[in-house]
Amino acid sequence: MLITHDTECALSILVELLNTAPEACGSERLPDVAALSAFVVRQEISEIDSLGPADLAAVHELRTRLREVFSAGSVERAAELVNAVVAEAGTTPRLTNHDHHGWHIHYFAPHAAVGRHLAAELGMALAFIVMAGELERLRRCGAPGCARVFVDLSRNRSRRYCDSRTCGNRLHVAAYRARQRSAEAVPGPEAVPAADAVPAAGR
Ligand SMILES: [Zn+2]
Ligand SMILES: [Zn+2]
Repeated sequence: MLITHDTECALSILVELLNTAPEACGSERLPDVAALSAFVVRQEISEIDSLGPADLAAVHELRTRLREVFSAGSVERAAELVNAVVAEAGTTPRLTNHDHHGWHIHYFAPHAAVGRHLAAELGMALAFIVMAGELERLRRCGAPGCARVFVDLSRNRSRRYCDSRTCGNRLHVAAYRARQRSAEAVPGPEAVPAADAVPAAGR
């Protein structure tokens, strides 16, 4: 897959951003400017000079538009959505080696407001995914009741859940209980597990 480390970093910020939305997690995780400010610090988003209510509104709107790419349904539609986001961002690609990161390209205009900064960087990361023919790696969690998104960067494209420690485990436990229930519901000698078939504790 022709996805660079920088694109992977941007995709990670993208996923974090989309999963702050009420549609993803049931409540707004970026409810105010202070929460947005904490997000900017946590994700190490550079060259953000100031943050206000207009920035918060811009980020909320961008989040909705970027989430649409995950459910675009076709490459043509995804390309259209990505092009619109990037066009409005006013990208100005330039090489930089700030903060000992090594040479990489910033797509956002110098000191752009956070909404435009993220539109440029995250929009371009999505553009690279589309260009690489990897749109199907943009996924929604397969666990019932979970609408978080993730980018499956696994080699065999086998990832199904947003976070293996929560949704993945939750499903394994549910599947195990369902098997136990169906075993109890069918009486007969074949339904009684042999001693060596009982899962060992801690496995
Ligand atoms: Zn940078
Ligand atoms: Zn999930």
